[in-house]
Amino acid sequence: MSISKNISTQSASKIKRFRKKKPSTEELLKGIFDSDKTALSRAITLVESTNTLHSKQANEIIEKCLSIKNKSIRIGITGVPGVGKSTFIERFGKQLTKQGKKVAVLAVDPTSTITKGSILGDKTRMEELVKDNNAFIRPSPSGDSLGGVARKTRETIILCEAAGYDIILIETVGVGQSETAVHSMVDFFLLLKLAGAGDELQGIKRGIMEMADAIVINKSDGENIQQAKKARIEFTRALHLLKNKDNGWTPKVFACSALENIGIKEVWETIDNFIKLQTKNGFFITKRQEQNRYWLLQTIENQLKQLFYQDKKVKNQLQNFIDAVINDDISPFSAAEKLLELHSTPKR
Ligand code: GDP
Repeated sequence: MSISKNISTQSASKIKRFRKKKPSTEELLKGIFDSDKTALSRAITLVESTNTLHSKQANEIIEKCLSIKNKSIRIGITGVPGVGKSTFIERFGKQLTKQGKKVAVLAVDPTSTITKGSILGDKTRMEELVKDNNAFIRPSPSGDSLGGVARKTRETIILCEAAGYDIILIETVGVGQSETAVHSMVDFFLLLKLAGAGDELQGIKRGIMEMADAIVINKSDGENIQQAKKARIEFTRALHLLKNKDNGWTPKVFACSALENIGIKEVWETIDNFIKLQTKNGFFITKRQEQNRYWLLQTIENQLKQLFYQDKKVKNQLQNFIDAVINDDISPFSAAEKLLELHSTPKR
């Protein structure tokens, strides 16, 4: 069914109004605070833009949105393609919106620029949630680096929270470094797995196991049920062997069927308990503070790098230095020092 059919005349006229002229910062802010999805989308587009004027306006909006305190919960969801992330998010999200919660679904997919398709980009995914008034779904921003994509998503979280979203789900594909980036922006990190033949733990990176606050063995239905039960025991045992988390939490393992909507309720109950425990023992706030600190330093690092590589003097000389280093005419260290000196020499 066409999505446009679901848009009321009122919101259609709102879209027209926003399209006709560029909305001011104040208009966008008012829209966001009124929980208007069109205004929220426009603001996110500014965050994602590479245009300097847009970035400036985006920064002004984010600054104002930061002052809105909302008790949102940020949940990261990862797993290899095909594990059932979108099916799970659809069920999980619907369950939350039925309780009256507002749910935003975002994604971090640094490969989207290369493959031209992005997770969540496909409109047929999460068909029910897309139509839900209490849900907001946004595909992954594109970008040439994971750092860039992750930064945009992080800023988008702030906008969604200012728009009154209680639960922010951030989906990422279980390949590469994107899990680490998502882990550093969420309160709870969920890993989706499949029960397969042989050793369940094979092929799973230890780092990801350590990051997970819960593991869901999905597709625990039909002929898979026995295998899923076995996998659940193995993962529980493996998690117990890992070092205890400082926050007093022992990661949980579930067997679920997103397709048949089995076990999803228990996952939410666990996350709810986790948040209550973390709020009580102070780790919830400590973790958010640490994440803010990390993102400050990360942003500085990224921007410094960008300034360096975009510097004309550096651009002109970089290849020469690379050639010289390859030919052993100069050591990589002194080449780096000379290039950094070039960059820091003030323009006359
Ligand atoms: P994603 O790539 O991780 O987002 O995976 P999808 O949610 O798109 O699911 C991939 C395929 O697995 C689809 O055909 C789903 O219908 C199917 N699927 C998802 N969850 C389940 C489940 O719990 N049980 C079964 N049997 N199939 C599922």
